[in-house]
Amino acid sequence: MKLKVYYSDDFLKHNQPSHPENAERLRSIIKAVRGSEMEIDFAEPEPLAEEDILAVHDSNMVKLVEKLSEKGGWIDFDTYVSIGSYEIAKLAAGAVCKLAEEICMDEVKNGFALVRPPGHHADRYRSMGFCLFNNAALAANALTKKGKKVLIFDHDVHHGNGTQDIFYERNDVLYQSFHLSPHYPGTGSIEEIGEEDGEGFTVNAPLPRGAGERTVMTLLEEVFIPIAEQFKPDIIIVSAGFDSHYTDMLGGLRLRSDTFYKMIKELKKVQPRLMCTLEGGYNLNLLGRLVVSELEAMAGKELSYTEDEKETRNAREVVNAIKRKMRDYWNI
Ligand SMILES: [Zn+2]
Repeated sequence: MKLKVYYSDDFLKHNQPSHPENAERLRSIIKAVRGSEMEIDFAEPEPLAEEDILAVHDSNMVKLVEKLSEKGGWIDFDTYVSIGSYEIAKLAAGAVCKLAEEICMDEVKNGFALVRPPGHHADRYRSMGFCLFNNAALAANALTKKGKKVLIFDHDVHHGNGTQDIFYERNDVLYQSFHLSPHYPGTGSIEEIGEEDGEGFTVNAPLPRGAGERTVMTLLEEVFIPIAEQFKPDIIIVSAGFDSHYTDMLGGLRLRSDTFYKMIKELKKVQPRLMCTLEGGYNLNLLGRLVVSELEAMAGKELSYTEDEKETRNAREVVNAIKRKMRDYWNI
């Protein structure tokens, strides 16, 4: 079965050329993906209906995006809305939801939603951090309505505060994230583990500057994968942020192409129904190659672009601290 990629040129219309989260990101990615050897079934998404956006997001937040979208404007200091961004954000959410549904129905094996704007900072009440609506959360929430359990694995350099917040009191969505700390948006400590029914279903790994492949693969091996195996998700949605790569200008972690490839391979062993949705990543020269690395892992192909080990700080102590914290909830 071919990989499926959801993409639309309309995603390029949400744009602010002087902003790091601009249309050139997706232009460089789609060029690399189309130019790769991968066998891919490209599809155009449909926008998610407003009522489905409201299943996760507050109506005032949705109305604000719709209003600003008429003339363009700013939600906050770093989150812009272009003319038409409301429709484009619904299109991004529609792509992620449709791909997740197709994978759950076994119509598609694996795929990548190449979407903008990204989603993981948008919480129930607020668009922020370059994100308008939370694409991964909308997809996960829709699947839980059909009785599915979802793992959202977030490898963006920033903590996905929005995704965490939306599922913080729930046990049908497991949220796992590693991220640079301290860093924007300031959340994602080891102590944040969920509340009520969701206690133990949020797993955060705040990593120091310089941490890279050895730390991340140890985290997967000793924390994330064993917990995921015990949770038994019906699908894995990867919030794929490539700003955790060692060259990224907004980053500080030191992952390499090989790390992204290996993470997808390991996650697929837990649940082969796996998809990625684009979050951050700002190195225009490499973004496309990193996306292709994950597509190659999904397809079971060899990695075509490798880089040398880049980690400068092995944060073993963070792995140990998370294990001590999460042992109350999981056998790790
Ligand atoms: Zn990010």
